[in-house]
Order: sequence, then C-alpha cells, then structure tokens
Amino acid sequence: MIRIITDVKAADAARGEGRDVWSGPAAAEALAILGVPATVHDLADGPPPADEATVLVVDEPDEGTAAALLGHAERGGGLVVCGHDPGWTGLAASPAPAEALVDVGGQRLRAFGGWALPATGTGAVHARWADERPAIVTTTRGRGTIAVVGPDLWHTLVRITQGHPVERDGTPPADGSAPVDDGLLKTDDGIALSWTEDRTTLGDAPPYPHEYPPTRSLPFFGTAHADRWREVLLGLLLDARATPIPVVAPWPDGAPAAAHVSHDSDMNDDPSARAALDAFAAAGVPVTWCFLYPGGYSQAVYDEVVAAGHEPALHYNAMLDTPDCTWGFDRLRDQLAWATRQVRGARIVTNKNHFTRWEGWDEFYLWCERLGLRVDQSHGPSVQGAIGFPFGTCHPHHPLTAAAHGNRPVDVLDLPLQTQDLWLTCTDEVRDAFIDEALRRHGVVHLLFHGQHLQHHAEVRASFAAAVQRLRSAGAAFHTSAALADWSQRRRALRITTTTAGDGGVTITVDGDRDGVALLLPPHLVPAGAEPYEHVERYGRRFTQVVLAGWTLRLVAA
Ligand SMILES: [Zn+2]
Repeated sequence: MIRIITDVKAADAARGEGRDVWSGPAAAEALAILGVPATVHDLADGPPPADEATVLVVDEPDEGTAAALLGHAERGGGLVVCGHDPGWTGLAASPAPAEALVDVGGQRLRAFGGWALPATGTGAVHARWADERPAIVTTTRGRGTIAVVGPDLWHTLVRITQGHPVERDGTPPADGSAPVDDGLLKTDDGIALSWTEDRTTLGDAPPYPHEYPPTRSLPFFGTAHADRWREVLLGLLLDARATPIPVVAPWPDGAPAAAHVSHDSDMNDDPSARAALDAFAAAGVPVTWCFLYPGGYSQAVYDEVVAAGHEPALHYNAMLDTPDCTWGFDRLRDQLAWATRQVRGARIVTNKNHFTRWEGWDEFYLWCERLGLRVDQSHGPSVQGAIGFPFGTCHPHHPLTAAAHGNRPVDVLDLPLQTQDLWLTCTDEVRDAFIDEALRRHGVVHLLFHGQHLQHHAEVRASFAAAVQRLRSAGAAFHTSAALADWSQRRRALRITTTTAGDGGVTITVDGDRDGVALLLPPHLVPAGAEPYEHVERYGRRFTQVVLAGWTLRLVAA
C-alpha cells in the first residue's frame, strides 16, 4: 500500500485563484494506471499513522508532518518525495527550467518544471538534468530510504498526456513531416512534446515529404515519455524499504499488453463497410466502429456491424460537412442521439472526433462525461510526423480538469491512438517500432482503419494482418473500447490489503471482481499453496505473476 500525502486545503486555495495544482489528483491517477494500491492522506488530518506503508509525498508537509515522515524513514520506512521543494528532507534544491530534458538510465525524457538537486549531496543519483545537475537521488536515513524526484512528475504527466490547450494551429517542424498548420484545430496542435527533440528518426534524412503512402520513414514520437516516467516512479516506490507492494497486472489474465482496433466510417458507403467487415472477420478482431454523421450506410450495414460483435460508437463530425457539423455540446449530443438511432438504441459509450478535431483543453471531456460517453479516442496523430506517442502514453487514462473544475479526474477514459491506416501513413519500419514501444510499456496498441483504405489497398490489409500476428504472438489480446473501459473500471475498483507475518510470509487479500486479475509480486515471493505462477518481466523489472483464483493469496520466500 502506498500512502499519498497531499495538502488539499492549499491546493483548493490555489485553484480558487485559478492556478492548477496537479499533485494530488495526478499522483492518484498515475498509481491507478500502474495498478498500485494507494490511499490519500490529507495534511489537515495531522501526521500519518506510524505503520509500514511506503509514503509518496506530493505536497510540501508542515513541520509536524515532516518530522513524522522523517521518523518513518528512520524506523525503516520508505519515502518518495516529488512535486515540491524537497528542502525539508535535507536536500537544498533549486528550481529547474520550466521545460527540460532529463537523462534517466541513458534515455532522455521531457520534464515540465521541478527542482534540480544539489550536486554534492550524499546518496545515489538515478537521473540528471541536461545540465548534469542531479534530478533523482536516493539517500538512506536511519534504517529507511528517501527518494527525491526533482522533475515535477505531476505537472509533467498532465502536460504531456493532455497537451496544451488547442486555441490555434500548432507550429510544425521545419522538416515537412508534420504540417499541423492546416487551418484546422486538432489534438495534435496541442502536442507538448518537442517536434525537434522528442521524436525518433530511423535513418532517412530530411526533407520528409508528406505523401500517402510515405516513400521513406518519417520522424515519429517513438518513446512514450509519460509511461516511462510512471515506470521510474514505480521503481522508486517498489525499491523503497517497506512491506511488499502487490501491483495489479495491467491487462486481463496477466497479458503483457493489449490491442485495440477502431474503424472510422468516413465515406459511409456500404462497399467499404463490407470490405472492413471482411477484413476484421478474417483477423478475428472485434473492433470499435465509429459512425460518422450524417451517415449514408444502409440500415443493413448498421445491423451487420452490431451483429458481428463490433462495438457501435460515434465519430463526431465538426468538419462542416453539413451546416450542423460544428463544434459544440449540442452538436455532439445530437450526433450521439443520431448514431444511437442508427443502431436501434444500442448504447454508445465511445467517441472519436473526425479528423481528431479538438478545441480548448478539458471542455470536450466534460461534454463526454455529461453525455455518458465513457471513452474518447481523439488523441492521436493526424499527420505522419506525429505518429506513435505524441501524447507520451499508450495507457488509457482519466484526464484531469483545469483549476476551474477543481483539477479532478473526468469520468471519461482517454484511449490514445498511434496511427491511422497502416502502410498508407507509415512504413513497416515505423509500424514495428511503435508497436515494440507499446509492448515495452505494457500499454494498448491502438490501430485505426478506414473502410475505403481496407477496400482499395491490399497493402493496408496486409500490414493490418501482419500487425495482428505480431501482437498475438507477443501475447496481446484484442479488446473493444467498451471492454477496455470495463476492465479499467474493475481493475481500479479492486481493494488490496497486505499483511506480513513474523515468519516472513505475506498474505494478500483482494476485495472486488477478481475475474482475470493477476498480481505482480516481488520475485523472491511465490504462492505458499498450489496456485500456478510464473516469473515475468514488466516495466523493466522481474515479478512473480499470479492469476488470482481466490480472495486471499499467501506468499512465502521462494
Ligand atoms: Zn474521420
């Protein structure tokens, strides 16, 4: 169990003045994505109880709580400190640049704000800012440890995964690979990662003509920065001295990654729909089928899509195809009602915006929340140079609102997209690279197709088939968007408690719907009974993985 120490009163006061305070909600969301059981402790409730929980301090503690936390470390507890001046731990830090790269184990990750740590301190340096100053340091204190994370992970995670507000066209890179300055407001106009510093180039040199299909491999966002940052946090939490922390495996049945295919019905013509139905049937993949207003399919196609087991969804059109295809809550509501009628009242819970249209920052998520849309899939590339992880993540996540709405998580899952129409948008080399990164990050590979491209290009069908085979051989199963939302909800609702016995044995109790749930446990522990287990590599570490068969699991040293 992780105890998150936060200062709700100070955060709310700042929000009241219009300032965002991400620390508490972003930390809770990061741990939920990782599957780490956590509770939140507010500074107003006084010093936290003196128990064995590892503590994640996200807001600056008052004097009494600081003393209690340092005492916790001295008695053998683990502290991880991030998101505020860590001076109270004894490290004299100075503010870091508003935006800079951090070298973490040879990989350069983008950070938004935080603190540079002293160069002459004791302890182990795990990461350095670009100017060589320490960025992550662990020290021992008494019998315990304190890890100080200089980069403001909470601001960093929100900025990377949600981008900047979209109020005008983005500024494209000079190499021609990403013409986002097209007069249309879209999610990739708000990308916070750097076009020049955060993309991967596979060998081909500029210029990069933006043509379909590309004749060379264009630069792409090859590293899921936000996912890597969460892994760094997980490593520090698990390495802090305390009781073993069970981690809920990311996907059903302990699968290492998940896969998702969505289909946008752009031309709304029956032949392309049937070509897509055939391609998905041949692959045995249930997809999320986003229906574009104002429609055009015959009723038989809508019925066939639902009958084939695909998830009916909305492809919200604010691209002025007809006068009522505009940006606004009423239009979204009306188009959702239209799509629901087309599928004879079947419930629609997923949306993707046509052309990845976007405006503002959190407004669209709030519209989805009001309408009961559980998943939005609009965050992804609309240009070839933005393929991969333009929002730094392949993990479904709950976006946070701006200060005006309390910086709270929206009850909508953002399911990021890596590319549209394989072959037409990227070379096989780029496809394989982003699939490999999503597998390394144990996230969701989300591929989007349009019927007319599946219909007219054998190469799109072949690249899709190759990707399906690659994902299945890696152990990833295909899920619809609604199924991913169900899984996420169940996984986040699990309540897990750990008790240690004097003989070193550990008992884990799980409360909730455990169907398909697997736990990732320290590799030196194995089930005491006959429960099957395996050793797996997840998030760059070794774990004992057990698919739960009961409510309690007793573990002993291997
Ligand atoms: Zn579309």
